[in-house]
Amino acid sequence: MNLLLAAKIVWAAGCIGWYVIRLPFERKVKRERVVDARDRLRELILLSCSTAGLGIVPLLWATSRVFDFANYPYSVLQFALGTLTFVLALWLFRRTHRDLGKNWSVTLEIKDTHKLVTGGVYRHVRHPMYSAFFLWALAQLILIPNWVAGPAGFIGFGILYAFRIGREEKMMLDTFGDEYRAYSARTARLIPGVY
Ligand code: SAH
Repeated sequence: MNLLLAAKIVWAAGCIGWYVIRLPFERKVKRERVVDARDRLRELILLSCSTAGLGIVPLLWATSRVFDFANYPYSVLQFALGTLTFVLALWLFRRTHRDLGKNWSVTLEIKDTHKLVTGGVYRHVRHPMYSAFFLWALAQLILIPNWVAGPAGFIGFGILYAFRIGREEKMMLDTFGDEYRAYSARTARLIPGVY
């Protein structure tokens, strides 16, 4: 089979996997009562940046020729590495959803029964779901041999992360006080022991 076609299939399968992992949680959190929601409009704009970079641009790459000018030569090794990174990203994404459970939300929210999660993958880093998204962006960069569609995920999700992270930590600090301060003191944000 043509390698590029294989890359498109892996990317599409990854998106389906991502959706299958997320769907039950979207249903579950709908029943929760939100007691604090911050920067909704700003959050929606940031989410659009992330969706464009991780979803729409690679979709256009996979289904049209608009980014063909930025194609570069591909190899089996690059395909294999990209696929492996995708699997890793999905694995971590699933773990974080399981650990965070009903406390998860797409935008910045606190529920009436909100609990600070510090176990599972949250024992090692404070934002493992964002680590999973960065891994996904890395997978996209490796898997897609195109100078526009490859890095688009990093740019899109990077913008969301950069403009959200401080506000999210402030919200957690406002809600959980010393408990979150102590948790922050013993964990990194995205990569254990590094950052
Ligand atoms: N930043 C986390 C969670 C992403 S989902 C991660 O990357 O894994 C975003 C929501 O998760 C926020 O609205 C916040 O309410 C909630 N949240 C973030 N960290 C949390 C934690 N340690 N325990 C419980 N809820 C958390």
